[in-house]
Amino acid sequence: MNRSLPRLSLHDLDLPALRETFAADGVNPQHAALLWRALHRDGVTDLNSCDFLPPLRRWVDRSVGEGKPYSLDKPELVEEIPSSDGLTRKFLLRLDDGQTIETVLMAYEGRHTVCLSTQAGCAMGCVFCATGQMGFVRHLRPGEIVAQVLHARRALREWDPTQRVRNLVLMGMGEPLHNYDSVMRALGIISDTRGIAIGPARIAISTVGVVPAIRRLAEEARPYRLAVSLHGSSEEERAALVPAAKRWSLAELIAACRDYGRDTGKRIFFEWTLIEGKNDSPETAERLAALLEGMDAHVNLIPLNPTQGFEGTESGTESARRFQEILRRAGFPCTFRQRRGIDVEAGCGMLKATRERRPGI
Ligand code: SAH
Ligand code: SF4
Repeated sequence: MNRSLPRLSLHDLDLPALRETFAADGVNPQHAALLWRALHRDGVTDLNSCDFLPPLRRWVDRSVGEGKPYSLDKPELVEEIPSSDGLTRKFLLRLDDGQTIETVLMAYEGRHTVCLSTQAGCAMGCVFCATGQMGFVRHLRPGEIVAQVLHARRALREWDPTQRVRNLVLMGMGEPLHNYDSVMRALGIISDTRGIAIGPARIAISTVGVVPAIRRLAEEARPYRLAVSLHGSSEEERAALVPAAKRWSLAELIAACRDYGRDTGKRIFFEWTLIEGKNDSPETAERLAALLEGMDAHVNLIPLNPTQGFEGTESGTESARRFQEILRRAGFPCTFRQRRGIDVEAGCGMLKATRERRPGI
């Protein structure tokens, strides 16, 4: 075997793919379900400790491990930071090639939610976002996305064994719809009822607005929730904060969202990071309400988390309330995202960015 070839991670494979692998290797494909359950339902990280039937044991010994064709994804925990309110834990995880990503476990009103990263860095360059300020490094493989949920689930079992991870949001580092195939493969694995079993209706994909991919989600009838990060209600206002708006205009994005809502019958969540003097005026709010007219839309207002590379400040309470009021009066549910654990740098990409500025760690 050529050892310089990247090995395939078993966590990259959904159950049909694992069955095919077994069939190709001359192993009864029925054994695939046992291995898959060990990996995803039980979350084992060391296959040597598993009590497998002899044919499966032989395949594992022959195929998985150092110098063998298959590996497992088990990112190394570099740092874990609990917030002072005790409701959030942030994990900085190191991948096989040394890249670090963030995963966050949040306890909102007894519902445990995990926030996942989908890329190392991000190509979209939103000016206020710590991940955008880093630039793009690479896409994550499906196994690297799945492994974040497995890590968070292990941490939750230690933290509070009576609880389970119920919700997922793809709001960590990276743009999920720029890594479409890997993200869809990972979500298929995560929502499979024979494994991690987080229901698709409890999984939210957040996108900066990759128009062709939003259309593809609808065509493929993907069962997940969709959140679209808008941050501006005119072309200029949005493009000043979200450079990707130059590629997919606000007009195209809203048209894609309208079609998505009509074709899927699903509500869209619009995210809006409120920045003083940039996108928090009553005129902006009125224009947003007009843009969303007739849609089944929920607006989520996010207070700006300060980052090193952006001068802007979070909106004052007065303007934020007024903004919310205008949308509500126009008939849209509009809520503030609670800013949990700003002391753990809970904003996307912020822990990694801070850590790289601290010398000697
Ligand atoms: N790339 C996707 C998902 C990751 S970002 C997207 O952009 O939607 C998740 C959310 O966090 C987005 O709405 C993004 O605009 C917001 N966000 C990023 N940096 C932020 C910051 N410094 N303060 C507040 N919200 C931020
Ligand atoms: Fe990328 Fe989302 Fe950050 Fe924009 S807000 S740079 S799309 S991760």
